[in-house]
Amino acid sequence: MNIHEYQAKSLLRSYGAPVSDGRIVMKAEEAKTAAGEMDGPLWVVKAQIHAGGRGKGSFKEASAGEKGGVRLAKSVEEAAEEAQKMLGRTLVTHQTGPAGKQVNRVYIEAGSGIETELYLALLVDRVTSRISFVCSTEGGMDIEEVAANTPEKLLSFSVDPVTGYQPFHGRRIAFELGLKGPQVKQCVALMGTLYKLFTDKDMEMLEINPLIVTDGGDLKVLDAKFGFDGNAIYRHPDIAALRDETEEDPKELQASKYDLNYIALDGEIGCMVNGAGLAMATMDIIKLYGAEPANFLDVGGGATKDKVTEAFKIITSDPNVKGILVNIFGGIMRCDVIAEGVIAAVKEVGLQVPLVVRLEGTNVEKGKEIIANSGLNVIAAENLKDGAEKIVKAVKG
Ligand code: GDP
Ligand code: MN
Repeated sequence: MNIHEYQAKSLLRSYGAPVSDGRIVMKAEEAKTAAGEMDGPLWVVKAQIHAGGRGKGSFKEASAGEKGGVRLAKSVEEAAEEAQKMLGRTLVTHQTGPAGKQVNRVYIEAGSGIETELYLALLVDRVTSRISFVCSTEGGMDIEEVAANTPEKLLSFSVDPVTGYQPFHGRRIAFELGLKGPQVKQCVALMGTLYKLFTDKDMEMLEINPLIVTDGGDLKVLDAKFGFDGNAIYRHPDIAALRDETEEDPKELQASKYDLNYIALDGEIGCMVNGAGLAMATMDIIKLYGAEPANFLDVGGGATKDKVTEAFKIITSDPNVKGILVNIFGGIMRCDVIAEGVIAAVKEVGLQVPLVVRLEGTNVEKGKEIIANSGLNVIAAENLKDGAEKIVKAVKG
């Protein structure tokens, strides 16, 4: 689960990390009062969406030369005006995709004078099964580009969970970032705070880009992107309360309401599968035959007809889906239940694209019979390979 920058900064503030004073604005008429609560001479107005690259992004229907989602202002009036201009519009960045994201909240912050922009992140490293720090002097820009072109400018190391964070970790980062004098001490303290926040709240990712040295020579968090482990959210009602459903993929949100494991992807073949392993295998074999999956979907072991119906509706609501592969290995899940769900869904929403169904396991004969008698134009497949080949052929010709 991701949260907004202003929410991340509020968490950081409560842990004693250095962040600027700021106010969140949801309605245009609140903007002036909010900006007026902070002293100048500089204000920063920042669109709050769950995507990075806001500064370099651009609004849809932007006027010529109009700035992106992070704007500097030199007066309360200017800050309020910029906030009002952003609210309700759609911001497109390299992370939102071409559709962009609607800006419903704008953060107005006391502006900082910047000496240098640095990069800092904490993440769970699956290779070492530990929490890793990543830092670089190349802050403020696309870190993916730094990693690809100049990997020597990135320092990454993991923390032994037995010792936890130690001051030498912070010093290592400080020296890598070229910090001097009192900044080293600030860095050691800040890294300890970030590590504590990360572990306290079961985070998956904490990215600060940029971490800055201000013109006054102090370290400050200028941007913050936090991701939390969805499986641990039940332990953190304070974090769960920060969820903004309007930022989530509507299909994924709908799926979560039915307890379906669904992740939207960019391809053209919708998949409905039971079991995460089989779902992974199905995505792999679709790629092997030259197409791309439109989603990952595990309907789970004990799915009901309603759940299957909903899953099918979610898949067909994706305009990118040019064909559907249902791949079920019935163990606990019964093939006849899947068949009934598919038919119920097709009756409700129709079927505009080719559908290949591969059923195997418990009640398979009954399942096949239900589909054969439904009058639907379904292509039957004998096994996983056959199913993948047939759906790719149906879509790509
Ligand atoms: P992002 O584009 O979504 O990553 O948003 P950021 O919060 O990182 O802001 C983008 C850029 O705006 C930063 O890299 C800074 O160069 C600039 N910026 C943000 N806040 C301030 C500020 O308080 N003062 C100044 N001078 N620049 C800022
Ligand atoms: Mn940033």
